[in-house]
Amino acid sequence: MRQQLLLNPTLRDVPADAEAVSHRLMLRAGFIRQLSSGIYSYLPLGLKALRNIQQIVQEEMDAAGAQEMLMPALHPSELWKESGRWDIYGPELMRLEDRNGREFALGATHEEVITSLVRDEIQSYKKLPMTLYQIQTKFRDERRPRYGLLRGREFLMKDAYSFDRSSAGLDLSYKQMYNAYDRIFRRTGLKFRAVEADSGAIGGTDTHEFMALADVGEDTIVYCPSCQYAANLEKAVGVIPELQMTAETNNSTPPEKIHTPQASSIKKLSQFLNVKPQQIIKTIALKADGAPLVVLIRGDYELNEIKIRQVVNAEQISMMTEDEIMNELRSVAGFIGPIGLLGRSGVQLIADDSVRGLTEAVIGANEADFHLQHVQVDRDLPTLMYADLRNVAEGDTCVHCLSELVFAKGIEVGHVFKLGTKYSHSLGAVYNDEAGASQDIVMGCYGIGISRVLAAIVEQNHDDYGIIWPHAITPFSIHLLTVKTQDEAQMKLSEHIYDTLTRAGFSVLWDDREERPGVKFHDADLLGFPLRLTVGKKAAESSIECKERRNGNQYELQVDNLLAHCQTFFN
Ligand code: ATP
Ligand code: MG
Repeated sequence: MRQQLLLNPTLRDVPADAEAVSHRLMLRAGFIRQLSSGIYSYLPLGLKALRNIQQIVQEEMDAAGAQEMLMPALHPSELWKESGRWDIYGPELMRLEDRNGREFALGATHEEVITSLVRDEIQSYKKLPMTLYQIQTKFRDERRPRYGLLRGREFLMKDAYSFDRSSAGLDLSYKQMYNAYDRIFRRTGLKFRAVEADSGAIGGTDTHEFMALADVGEDTIVYCPSCQYAANLEKAVGVIPELQMTAETNNSTPPEKIHTPQASSIKKLSQFLNVKPQQIIKTIALKADGAPLVVLIRGDYELNEIKIRQVVNAEQISMMTEDEIMNELRSVAGFIGPIGLLGRSGVQLIADDSVRGLTEAVIGANEADFHLQHVQVDRDLPTLMYADLRNVAEGDTCVHCLSELVFAKGIEVGHVFKLGTKYSHSLGAVYNDEAGASQDIVMGCYGIGISRVLAAIVEQNHDDYGIIWPHAITPFSIHLLTVKTQDEAQMKLSEHIYDTLTRAGFSVLWDDREERPGVKFHDADLLGFPLRLTVGKKAAESSIECKERRNGNQYELQVDNLLAHCQTFFN
């Protein structure tokens, strides 16, 4: 391809609201353009890179035995009402009406469509297991579309759905997709971790997210540097390090009320009493599906709402208001404490494991501006119920091998999920087993954000000058630059190189523009193809200059050796 004709509007400056590196670089390099918030056009180079990712995904899905198909983006509301999600999905689902006032949604995901299709087309166990997938545009009216392609409102997803006779069958299908994902992300060159994730309230048992490591990532992942353990923060478990208490245990002193004016937060209280947060027990008043729930946690830890929801089996957790604290707990916000609440009827009280065995602890006194000190948990709160309710924190160790856990930011690029019979049941997708009995089909679903992967790759592969494409994804392998297009020798040699390399199967972008050399070099670095070949002054001697984008290596090469060099370089 000759760059002269290419639609590749590079930019010097990008809009200030483009925060993520990948967003800025893809705008600057002329890969994408925004049409509206979270909605982008892929210009020719962007599309090429996107297609390369898509192809890897297709190859690995096909190799895993999945069958590609394509479903509509426009979904009749009836289908989403059948699954119950028309009401549950909320404003993220884009909805519209046709000319007759019939309601539709723009597909945010395709469980409903695929399940109804399978319901209608598959009857016998003989057709199962089966995995179907598609690569298609998804629509989600995200609350905060941002970071360019990382969180769009219209984006490209590969979604796959497996259909099995039993949960043992699902386990196999799931493993196959998991392994395919592992190969896909390896091939893209991404640094990633597959992490255990929370499967939410509904059905599913197993779920993993594939996280590309990047500081811009919105998810926190926790992994063990020594063993395989890796999980999302919301799911991660850890071992609490042995606590060094500052104060001596004093079993003869009962809890003592102490005046702590204004000290309604852990920080203020710890300053006021000059004790470490580890010695303070936070008492947090919540509502779990409307019922009072009081939770205790050590002052230096954070609550994990998802764990709480699971422990008490609630859909909704919210904070109690000050009024509710007063009326329902007869306590005061900022000064709540477990003594007096523990055992009270109608109030469920659970402590995080971090509270176990604390001595000389400080708790709220259920009275404005007062706390209790000298609390010995085992002595003063002997009937506490314990559970894991907290986010693991820096310093916690791995439950499997006791190495210190590592925290990192991740971009969720893929997700595998065991659905079970949630959708087959609500939509009536059944099969007849060998005995002729009707059974719910057991399902799994598997997504990859293709456009998000593109951005994640740029997040991980760039420097101050531009993008550094991995070989497998780059829009063009070779960037051929002719320094002076009016120079006949340079043009002739360039043409020869272009023909030789393209005939040998390399994709080459030939910068034949009448631009200053500085502009061409600058753009080549910005666009970031792996190998740059510059035809300049030494064209008459059949000598050119090579530059490797990733490591900056620069050297001269005789044209006769070029093809062999490229073959080695790209192998
Ligand atoms: P997130 O938590 O980031 O919103 P999700 O849990 O909603 O993701 P899924 O419903 O599992 O995502 O969708 C499958 C995949 O689609 C995700 O793993 C992600 O790679 C991609 N994806 C989801 N939402 C977006 C988006 N708004 N823009 C780009 N890709 C997305
Ligand atoms: Mg989402």
